[in-house]
Amino acid sequence: MLKAYDSALEILLNLKDGGKVSITKVADHIFMIDVEAARIRNFVASYIVRGESVVIIETGPTSSIHNLVGRLLKLGIKPDDVSYVAVSHIHLDHGGGVGSLIKHFPNAKVLVHQRGVLHLANPEKLWQQSKMALGAIAEIYGKPEPVPPERMVAAQDGMTLNVGGGITLKVIETLGHASHHLSYYEPLSKGIFTGDAAGIYISELDVIVPTTPPPFRLDIALNSLNKLASLKPMVLYYTHFGKALNAAGKLEMYAKQLKLWAKTAKEALNAGEDLGAISRRIVENDDAVKKAEGYIKTHMVLRETVLRESVLGIIEFVKNFGIPA
Ligand SMILES: [Zn+2]
Repeated sequence: MLKAYDSALEILLNLKDGGKVSITKVADHIFMIDVEAARIRNFVASYIVRGESVVIIETGPTSSIHNLVGRLLKLGIKPDDVSYVAVSHIHLDHGGGVGSLIKHFPNAKVLVHQRGVLHLANPEKLWQQSKMALGAIAEIYGKPEPVPPERMVAAQDGMTLNVGGGITLKVIETLGHASHHLSYYEPLSKGIFTGDAAGIYISELDVIVPTTPPPFRLDIALNSLNKLASLKPMVLYYTHFGKALNAAGKLEMYAKQLKLWAKTAKEALNAGEDLGAISRRIVENDDAVKKAEGYIKTHMVLRETVLRESVLGIIEFVKNFGIPA
């Protein structure tokens, strides 16, 4: 019964909005919603895991929460159905909208890394830091609304969420991109909701590009990638953006790419180059970024975050810690 309903719904959803697909079924029990953050399509995904209850993974920023809520209604999700809203980390494009979202779902608890709890309860510092790092993009994402402390659960590595109907999610602490980063493993589809731990997947080009803003920790990020690989996943569910197959290959490729960026940055620093020159040298050395160069340069957010913030994060790491063994 549920299956027939789902496939009818799927056809309906794929036909809506003049052919633009905003809701995609990515597994029997998982839907992906394009939240159209900053009005950009194929950029920020929220995932809906449906068992006897519903868990929402990632919210996108405050300014696109109305898109997410509208699409959750289209999926037939009722206010009382949602048991958890789980965020990978508190950066605005992942968890910025969580305070606004939970107003629509009175039973939902927010699952977040323990280092994110105070920032979500009082987002003022997060907001100021986001404006400093992202400038105008932060304003477009919108200021986060506070999350009442009694609605938050500090996630522990290895903790399991029971979604009901035999569906579970396991919390995997994956630091490196940020000191408050989690991924979620879903055993039935052997899938991992990676947040920003496995880079940015540009599905249109089938390439990965790094997301390594300061204070990025390459050594810790590589450990996190090993931890994810040890789960032997089949599928990665990227927040940026979408479902990707060949999960093990992608994790391995991303680790290699991060090491290549560090090596390139080190050589450029030794040659006395500045940020612009280092960024160009990285584009020349990294085939994936080279392939995506046009896409990145015409993307309002990625052109700032990948070729500036990510390069800066790698440079800072190499300056402070050298190249990991
Ligand atoms: Zn992030």
